[in-house]
Amino acid sequence: MHTLFDLTGRNALVTGSSRGIGLGIARALASAGARVVLNGRDRGALAEAARALAVDGVAAPVAAFDVTDEAAIVAAVAGIEREVGPIDILVNNSGITVRASLEDLDTADWDRVIGTNLTGAFKVGRAVARHMIPRRRGKIVNICSVLSEIARPTAGAYTAAKGGLRNLTRAMAVDWARHGIQANAIGPGYIVTDFTRALMDDPKFNAWLDARVPMARWGEVSDLAGAAIFLCSPASDFVTGQVLYVDGGMTASV
Ligand code: NAP
Repeated sequence: MHTLFDLTGRNALVTGSSRGIGLGIARALASAGARVVLNGRDRGALAEAARALAVDGVAAPVAAFDVTDEAAIVAAVAGIEREVGPIDILVNNSGITVRASLEDLDTADWDRVIGTNLTGAFKVGRAVARHMIPRRRGKIVNICSVLSEIARPTAGAYTAAKGGLRNLTRAMAVDWARHGIQANAIGPGYIVTDFTRALMDDPKFNAWLDARVPMARWGEVSDLAGAAIFLCSPASDFVTGQVLYVDGGMTASV
């Protein structure tokens, strides 16, 4: 691997990495040499993910915490710094959705989606940045969405959260640039995971996706690996505040 993309000796925390995109990104960063800490709320799922990585020769410590729980975040970040080492890379990936049209959406569900997808990234980002700032080095990658730019029916809270996360990325970039931290985002298109299972099983949605996405296919978790390694590596040292869309051309087309 080119040295520009070498993550040897770097420690990375990927939130929501017990499955799906987070686990795929953890795998990608490990393949570039990083030591990756897995996170999620379900300890059983985390142990299973760590076992899956171990089969490929990757030893990944786990840190179970909820990204909405400030005290748990601060304690877990301190624990990782103490037991694994300095967190050089943070990927804010954990996310949820509640599918309902805005007029039917409960306030509690709105709060849960915003709390996990947007405020969670702020809380974990702040906790980790407080350790990165004195070291004058760090990479933060927030997992946005094509819905950071555009909307679709029944995804109102998610769309608001991901649009907010796009601008939180810019805010992190400008507040922390002078401390040697770069903050960027990846905006995935529709990717095959548990999260999109209901859409994958819907023939009408598949027909719409084929017509709407220029590359006319679902994305795979592995499609995000290159963007993740780039934004976590020295190759992106003068890139900050950007969203890199990995969406088969979806946001480039009407
Ligand atoms: P997924 O398969 O449902 O995985 C979500 C991960 O987040 C799981 O590891 C889950 O573990 C964790 N998580 C959820 N709530 C959490 C919380 N409060 N605290 C800590 N961890 C939490 O979803 P995915 O498709 O991989 O999506 C990952 C990210 O990519 C999300 O931010 C999503 O919005 C974004 N994204 C996905 C797509 C797509 O098409 N799949 C497209 C664009 C963007 P626990 O439930 O055990 O906590």
